[in-house]
Order: sequence, then C-alpha cells, then structure tokens
Amino acid sequence: MTPTIRTAVFDIDGTLALMNKEAGIFTALPGAVDALAACRAAGIKVVAYTNGTFFPPAHYYPLLADAGIVIDAGHVLTPAAVAAQALARMGYRRIMVMGGDGTRVPVRDAGIEVVEPTPDAGPVDAVLLGYTRDFGATALEAVVQAVWDGAPPFAGSVAPYFASSKGRMLGISGAIAAALENATDTKVTVFGKPETAGLQIVTDLTGARPSDMAVIGDDPTLEIRMGRKAGAFCVGVTTGIADRDAFNGVPEDMRAHVVLDDLTGLAAQPWFPKLPE
Ligand SMILES: [Mg+2]
Repeated sequence: MTPTIRTAVFDIDGTLALMNKEAGIFTALPGAVDALAACRAAGIKVVAYTNGTFFPPAHYYPLLADAGIVIDAGHVLTPAAVAAQALARMGYRRIMVMGGDGTRVPVRDAGIEVVEPTPDAGPVDAVLLGYTRDFGATALEAVVQAVWDGAPPFAGSVAPYFASSKGRMLGISGAIAAALENATDTKVTVFGKPETAGLQIVTDLTGARPSDMAVIGDDPTLEIRMGRKAGAFCVGVTTGIADRDAFNGVPEDMRAHVVLDDLTGLAAQPWFPKLPE
C-alpha cells in the first residue's frame, strides 16, 4: 500500500542539518536541500519540527536559510511553540513561565500573558516549564505554589539530557519538572516529541491529517514514535543519533516504515508521490 503524503514533517538536528553550537551555524546534511525542493515540486507542504527549546522559532529561519534550508514562515515548530499554541487553544490566558526566551516568546506570540515566577505573581491558569539557566529558589517556590494553588503544570520537554558538541547537557526543564512533581505529587503534562500535540499543530498549519503525513527524523524514540502513535508514515535517517540497529531495536509497531542512510534520493523512494505526468 502506498501512503498518501500531503505534508512532510522533518526533524532539524541530525535530519535536515547539524548545528555547530560554538559557531551557532547549521550545515545541511546530504540530500536535505534537494529533498525539500522535491517535496515542494510534488505539492507536499514542509514543516520543520525540532525538539529543542533553547530558541524561539524565529531564531531558526535565517540560520537554516544560510545552510540552504528554506522553511516557510510559521512552519518551524519547537516544543514550546507547540505548547503555547495548544495552551491558547485550551483557553489558558495567564501562564506562569519558568523558562527563557525560547519559551516566553512563543507563549506571548500565542496571545497568552506571561507571568513571572515571583512570590507576588497572583493567580495563574497554568504553569509552563522550558529551558533556562537563569532561575533560583524563589522562582522554584513560586511555580510550586502556583501548582499547590491549583494551576496545572506543563512542559515543552522533560528530556533528562540533550546531546551537544560537548557531550551530555542537563535538560533543565526535566529537572525542574521532577522537582515540581516531587513537591506537588502532580504529573507534568508534556507537549514535545514523542507526544503527538505537535502533529495537531501541523494539521492546523497545512490541513493534512497525520495519516497524510510523512514524519522524518533521526531519533526512533522521538520522531518515529510520535509519527507511529499518530498514524503517520515514518522515515528514519541514520545521519543523527541512531544507526539501523537502533531503529530496528524498538517494538515493531513503533518502528520506522523506512530507514535511509540520509535524505539523498528521497524523491526516488517508491512511496514518494510521483509528479503529475
Ligand atoms: Mg534530531
């Protein structure tokens, strides 16, 4: 059976490009630029969805464009942007944010009031955790108090650590989420991969249902798992953190449908929609 593909959801790091964290520049991975051109030629909409929460979405467009990867406005998603849009849709209007600009900017852009985690913050509708290095006991006490007062807690990502050019880097929002859960006995709801909330935002953006999407990524436990849970066609690439053994080492119903060495020749794949004659 050939899948119908109307939208392609690409991961960024390890899939479309690699970032030199010191220099702050991206380099396109083999085949990435051609793959995006082929998608557009075939009428497939393109979304780039990273699991990083360091920067607001706007940060990515020029850096990716410098590497030849051009993404349409509004079509770069981060877990914080997904969280902000989902929370706005859920009717939250005043949210205590413990996070940096990568989290605060998308929340504000979604029309939600950002409340600082301070002792005199007053009532809030929810708490949202994101990446920050700039916090202390007072802020931690404020988010705990908000949850004790009934605000539900959310996070973009609760990954224990991230891969960086310097090795493992602590996932701060995951650490804060663990502290918050310890203090409040309340589970933090996560929006990032492998949760499927991001694909609902993709549907809003492109009109395609998950069953009409291809999800392409380098992490079998993040992109591929998200795509399989939502019913998308899933393509693994071995240009990032996982090799073929890692892709095949997950339960069969959560496995990528196809694993490629890189994005070279994506359009020549048998499942890729053919151009009209
Ligand atoms: Mg990746």
